[in-house]
Amino acid sequence: MSPFQAPPNLSSSSSSSTDQVLLECKNLCAWYGAAQILFDVNLQVNRGEVVALMGRNGAGKSTTLKALMGLMPKKTGVVNFLGQDQSHFEPHDAARRGLGFVPEDRRIFTDLTVLENLSVARQGARKFPNGQDAPYWDYANLGKLFPNLASMPHRLGSHMSGGEQQMLTVARSLMGNPLVLLLDEPSEGVAPLIVEQMGEMILTLKRQGVSILLSEQNLHFAQWVSDRVYVLEKGQVRHHSSMQELSEDGQALKAYLSV
Ligand code: ADP
Ligand code: MG
Repeated sequence: MSPFQAPPNLSSSSSSSTDQVLLECKNLCAWYGAAQILFDVNLQVNRGEVVALMGRNGAGKSTTLKALMGLMPKKTGVVNFLGQDQSHFEPHDAARRGLGFVPEDRRIFTDLTVLENLSVARQGARKFPNGQDAPYWDYANLGKLFPNLASMPHRLGSHMSGGEQQMLTVARSLMGNPLVLLLDEPSEGVAPLIVEQMGEMILTLKRQGVSILLSEQNLHFAQWVSDRVYVLEKGQVRHHSSMQELSEDGQALKAYLSV
């Protein structure tokens, strides 16, 4: 029997009422060499929230996610995760504490199978700061979330389509049982069916209390899945509101997103 076929085992109950801040940055600045890219970025991600980080190409979305993850060599400001200052953490420390990251270039191990790719990312169960169990992911419940991966447990990464590889990167980061997941442009460059699965996956995670910060240029996708939005322009937050408010603000849409 495929390990994907076991019954689901989602251990957490959803908790829509809590408003705990899980991830936050204050006055976050970041540089590539001498070039300053981020300027005093402030943002928060609360428990069970999907937050979109929007902005045109080059606005600083990926840089913000990298800085939160500890991947920018030069940065200033404060990054707080689960109530602890992790401004000086290495990326693997952030991951070990439950911050998941799916980067733009979504690397998988092409000479490993789907199951092997997932196994290498396995981490132990976690709790939310209030002591509640966080969702725990294994092959079985991941298979429910990603049915196309479940149908190819022994396929080599190199024999998968781009969309399938993208699903696998997300599934792999879930094997670390993240409390907050950073997703860099999940809808970019993949087929509509994968975009749809990605959206459903995000909403399922949200129902289980996992928070997501996703960078996105696709307004329709962001509107579908997000509760709140920050809009970056030239490395600065120029707008933040509920997704609904931004959707109704034609001027902001035109000014910051050219739609
Ligand atoms: P976005 O994700 O919003 O498209 P990025 O965060 O990738 O934007 O890029 C923000 C700015 O940083 C852009 O001006 C880009 O050219 C610059 N940049 C991105 N990556 C690098 C890098 N590795 N080295 C130097 N500059 C970079
Ligand atoms: Mg980017």
